[in-house]
Amino acid sequence: MRTTFVAGNWKMNLDKNLARSLVAGLKAAVGTLEGPGQVGLFPPFTLLQDVAREVKGSGIVVGGQNCHQQASGAYTGEVSAGLLRDAGATHVILGHSERRRDFGETDELVAAKLAAALAAGLRPILCVGEQLEDRDQGRTLEVVGRQLAGALAGFTAEELAGLTLAYEPVWAIGTGRTATQDQAVEVHAALRRQVAGMLGGDFAANLCIQYGGSVTPKNAADLMGAEEIDGALVGGASLELHSFLAICDAARGRAGQTTGHRKSESTS
Ligand code: PEP
Repeated sequence: MRTTFVAGNWKMNLDKNLARSLVAGLKAAVGTLEGPGQVGLFPPFTLLQDVAREVKGSGIVVGGQNCHQQASGAYTGEVSAGLLRDAGATHVILGHSERRRDFGETDELVAAKLAAALAAGLRPILCVGEQLEDRDQGRTLEVVGRQLAGALAGFTAEELAGLTLAYEPVWAIGTGRTATQDQAVEVHAALRRQVAGMLGGDFAANLCIQYGGSVTPKNAADLMGAEEIDGALVGGASLELHSFLAICDAARGRAGQTTGHRKSESTS
């Protein structure tokens, strides 16, 4: 069974004081959660160094929400993967739909950022997801498949060893609307098949694929009860200690499930 990974994407939220109290609460509680599982925090750039320092030794990992595709240079306002590393990050989120939508990030640009992140030794979380109209027109698998192929083409399995994928249907991000377990499982399974074709069956079998899009304590156990769903990328609910902890707890509960069965089936 793959280890679960729950990542909190703080986006442009919190400040130094709020971050400190959230991290203190998480540090105190994460060790008491049952079962194995990774927890990651993705604060705004200005909080990264502080958060990385505070989580040291706790097992919680820290990452950036984006990086530039170049290693250094005259790119005013940008942050490179190397600078993220320097600030204490081990991970980076790439291709988030808000970056694609608000900053025009294309699959080619995401691939260039992926190369930069890997060169700096960061472990990327690559986000893919369809718009509502794509889903309504039955084009979900085509869209996420194209995003995946566009980002990963040209990389070897060795280079991508630290990769996590996040399936984030755009219509579910920050909307309170969540994909059903069946909808998420269908896409995760398709992504895993595609990765197997590109990078080999072993790589695909071990790849962590998170679901993201309005994950809350209410829906987390159901979503992550599916064997295909290895964790969550959490926005809004990661800003509040108890809701984020409840989601981490739900992810670890999954470790107790037998493989091959979805929790909802095995308990109904
Ligand atoms: C996200 O930002 O990746 C996200 C999934 O946000 P939310 O949980 O708020 O929908």
